[in-house]
Amino acid sequence: NICKNKVNQFVQFKIKEIYDEYTMVDKTHNYILNDSKEDVIACGDSAMIKQTARILVDNAVKYTPKGNDIIVSAFMEQGNIPAFEVQDYGIGISGEDISKVFERFYKVDQSRSTDVKSTGLGLYLIKSIIELHGGTITVESEVDNFTRFTVKLPK
Ligand code: ATP
Ligand code: MG
Repeated sequence: NICKNKVNQFVQFKIKEIYDEYTMVDKTHNYILNDSKEDVIACGDSAMIKQTARILVDNAVKYTPKGNDIIVSAFMEQGNIPAFEVQDYGIGISGEDISKVFERFYKVDQSRSTDVKSTGLGLYLIKSIIELHGGTITVESEVDNFTRFTVKLPK
């Protein structure tokens, strides 16, 4: 487990950094930061945590129509599990596809996003990273409504 020799990370600071970067660079979506009042402290590698959030927000940007909200949050799940979420109000993922999005090279029907540069590796990579940390990643979605990825990290 990668966690063993790593120092504690303040997850909310990494999420805030990602929020700051995307609000600066992408003016076509409405970013919302759900900041945590309590510290969200996880065990892990800070660059990897940040990269994970970046890949999720990258997807949110690609699969969300202009003008819609993208929400990033850091919080302590049930008071004791450090977690963060990326939620968008985009095209969504169907029940059939949702179990496959973490597979290597998996892409949902290309016709729905022909103008989008995509290799189908992002989610596969971050799932591996998170599992190396002993954490979990889950997704909930509704087609043409929303998609929400939740990452839980070890303390
Ligand atoms: P890459 O990240 O390698 O550039 P990608 O974005 O296609 O390419 P993944 O990030 O692994 O690959 O995502 C896999 C597939 O899951 C995507 O092709 C897309 O169909 C679907 N997907 C991922 N995130 C979202 C999202 N927020 N909304 C809708 N569909 C999504
Ligand atoms: Mg991606």
